[in-house]
Amino acid sequence: LNAPYDPDNIFAKILRGEMPSVKVWEDDHVLAFMDVFPQSEGHVLVISKTSTAQTLLDIDAAALARLTVAVQRTARAVEKALRPDGFQIMQLNGRAGGQTVFHLHFHVIPRWTNRQMKG
Ligand code: 5GP
Repeated sequence: LNAPYDPDNIFAKILRGEMPSVKVWEDDHVLAFMDVFPQSEGHVLVISKTSTAQTLLDIDAAALARLTVAVQRTARAVEKALRPDGFQIMQLNGRAGGQTVFHLHFHVIPRWTNRQMKG
């Protein structure tokens, strides 16, 4: 959990424009973009553009506030666009916690009553 931030992680590359992504929306502080291996239709990731926190443990409160407001905004956009029956917010910390990209991110995963869950 305490490894140093790797500036070459995939999301850092996306933020620098070195890797493509399908952006949902962004402002000066946050970016929401489509997950390339979606667990359902409309699976979006939300990250901070300014914080280099790897996990929920090391982001400062101001950046976390902006990020969680962005998660809510993303959930509202997903709800409006796709009308899911529900949605999940997922946030994994550390390799043992299932985290695979070490730039803090929140998953917004829409769910439908009569669709098979992947993942
Ligand atoms: P974690 O398991 O760390 O919480 O989630 C990492 C997420 O990033 C996974 O859902 C995975 O599908 C997604 N992901 C991995 N590589 C890329 C990529 O290059 N582009 C995008 N958009 N998503 C990625």
